[in-house]
Amino acid sequence: MICELISVGTELLLGNIVNTNTQFLAEKCALLGLSMYHQVTVGDNRERLSEAVRTALKRADVVILTGGLGPTEDDMTKEVCAEVMGFSLVEDAHTRERIEDYFKNSIYKDITDNNWKQAISPEGARVLDNENGTAPGLILEKNGKLCVLLPGPPNEMIPLFMGQVYPYLQKLRPEVIRSQMVKICGVGESQVEDKLLDMIDRQTNPTIATYAKTGEVHLRVTAKARSEEEAERLIKPVVKEIKKRFGDHIYSMKEGETLEMAVVRLLKKHELTVTTAESCTGGLLAARLVNVPGVSDVFREGFITYANRSKRKILDVSKSTLKKYGAVSEQTAKEMATGGVFATDADVCVAITGLAGPDGGTEEKPVGLVYIACYLREKVRVERYQFKGDRNKIREQSVVKALDLLRRSILEEER
Ligand code: ATP
Ligand code: MG
Repeated sequence: MICELISVGTELLLGNIVNTNTQFLAEKCALLGLSMYHQVTVGDNRERLSEAVRTALKRADVVILTGGLGPTEDDMTKEVCAEVMGFSLVEDAHTRERIEDYFKNSIYKDITDNNWKQAISPEGARVLDNENGTAPGLILEKNGKLCVLLPGPPNEMIPLFMGQVYPYLQKLRPEVIRSQMVKICGVGESQVEDKLLDMIDRQTNPTIATYAKTGEVHLRVTAKARSEEEAERLIKPVVKEIKKRFGDHIYSMKEGETLEMAVVRLLKKHELTVTTAESCTGGLLAARLVNVPGVSDVFREGFITYANRSKRKILDVSKSTLKKYGAVSEQTAKEMATGGVFATDADVCVAITGLAGPDGGTEEKPVGLVYIACYLREKVRVERYQFKGDRNKIREQSVVKALDLLRRSILEEER
């Protein structure tokens, strides 16, 4: 089944707003297993919108439009779709009532005349009640073709789509789609692809899609089948093979779980508390940990020791280490991690020291050189990285590697 998206609004064409609706809908349509070949943006213009709808209905089975359902003169999506598909417009009594109710509970007591326009509906259309606004969504169906009309504001569009359109489209599909997420850390995107090349080359069902994030690669294994059980049965061996190839580099199998969430989960599981000792990342690592609700069970305090003097005073890094090896060195990173544990009563400390640039690099210690250390059970692991990119990119990558080192240290230690 082919799907096409049409975003309606001159403000989109002028770049006044970002088209987040398309991104949202495209992702959901992919999950539904709909094929998507075109996405169109068109201004608030009758002729051009009409042409866009005509074209879309020729090449797609489902056309989803957002925007232009409101009360004003430039809102014409419903009128144009009704005309193109040959529906006459009538007043929908149920929607009229809902608009009355809406205004009863609103700070705007006077209902301007143009609001009643939103109760006009193509005869025979399925009306989708909008709990967050006055313009309902609509589904028009004729000759096996479907037009889904949704309001433009995302806070109205998303609940309407998820609550009423997604299940509707799901029922139309003869097959079910299931997917399994695999989140990998500590392996570059090209390495991941290389390791999976044979599987990607012969993939048909399930398919493997890769998405790269800073320091991470996410894989989505998606299967189409006639039943849920069959889809899961197809996914299972593929995921098993991926697990075999990436082992501990896989930090999560859950859609909604971030790297810091996985790390906090692991700390809780092993009843470990953590502290952070950061130089060039200036608190970014602590901030990532604090992103996770309930982190207070495992994280009580962290340090930003930017100057050498602070590294000495707070973390007890020795003067001779700083002098002999410098602040950006394996030795300093190790002493920072050790000092962090002794300055608190945490079980683990992750320390980061590096050169984020743009200035201060030398031939021996170029910009992007970062040392990350992790102290756990009297053992200090330290890793050296040479990152590329600007100051922010270097700091961001450092934090991901630090979270990953923390994760791997716990896994290795508990083995
Ligand atoms: P309203 O009743 O608010 O007029 P509408 O269905 O007529 O709703 P539009 O007038 O086209 O929708 O857009 C209203 C607002 O919705 C826009 O100003 C914008 O903030 C948001 N919006 C519209 N289309 C998009 C889109 N594609 N992506 C993100 N936001 C959008
Ligand atoms: Mg509008």
